[in-house]
Amino acid sequence: MECTEWSGIALNHPARCEHRAPCEKFVAFEWTDSGRRFLGCGKKDVPKCNFVDWIYPEWPVQLKQALNTIWTMYEEESTNRLRQNVLNAEEVVKVMEEKRKMENDLRFFKVDFAKMVADKEDAITQLGNARLVISDPKEQIEKKNLADKSDTNIHQVLRAKAEKERDQEKEEKVKLVQEMDKIKQKSAMLLEEKEKWKQEKRHLEYTIGDLFKEKEATKGNIRKIKEIVDE
Ligand SMILES: [Zn+2]
Repeated sequence: MECTEWSGIALNHPARCEHRAPCEKFVAFEWTDSGRRFLGCGKKDVPKCNFVDWIYPEWPVQLKQALNTIWTMYEEESTNRLRQNVLNAEEVVKVMEEKRKMENDLRFFKVDFAKMVADKEDAITQLGNARLVISDPKEQIEKKNLADKSDTNIHQVLRAKAEKERDQEKEEKVKLVQEMDKIKQKSAMLLEEKEKWKQEKRHLEYTIGDLFKEKEATKGNIRKIKEIVDE
C-alpha cells in the first residue's frame, strides 16, 4: 500500500535480500498484517525474491481481529460482486439473443408488410379502375383506356375475348347437339318404317302361303272330280 513516509530503497539499512541487494521499503496491505512496515526485495528487472524483514511488530490481538473482520467483509463483498457480474453477463447474453431474434422477426415482418402494402395498392388501383368503369360515362372510359396501358386493362380485354370465344363455342356445341337430335329422330323414323315394311312383307308371305295351300287343295279337288268322272 502507498506510503510517502516509507518508500524507496533503504540504502542506509543493513538488510540485504536474497539477491544480496539493498531492500525496498513497503507497507503491507493484507489481512492482519495490513499497515505493517517491512523491507522486501527491491529488484525490478528480475522476479522478486521472497525476502521479508518486518520493521513493525505484529499487531495486538484486538486489532488483528478487527482487521480480520474487515477483510472478511471485503472478500464477501468481492465474491458477491463477482457473482452478480456473472449473472449480469448471462442476462446480457440473453437480452442480446432476444434482440437478435426480434431483429430477425422484424426483417420478416418488413418483407411481409411491404408485400401487403403492394397488394393493397394493387387492390386500390383495381378498385379505382372498376369504379371508373362503373360510374363514368363512355368518353371517360375511352380516355382511361388511352392513358392507362396497365396489365389490368390488358387482362380485362383478354378475359372479355376469352368469354366471347367461350360463348361462341357454347353456341356451336348447342347447334351440333340439335343437329344430332334431328339425325337421331330421322333414323328412328326410318327404323320404324323399316319395321312396318318387314311386317307387311311377312304378312304378304303368309298370304302367299295361304294362297298356295288353297291352290293345292283346289288341285286335289279337281283331281278327285276327274277320277270320279273317269270312272
Ligand atoms: Zn531480492
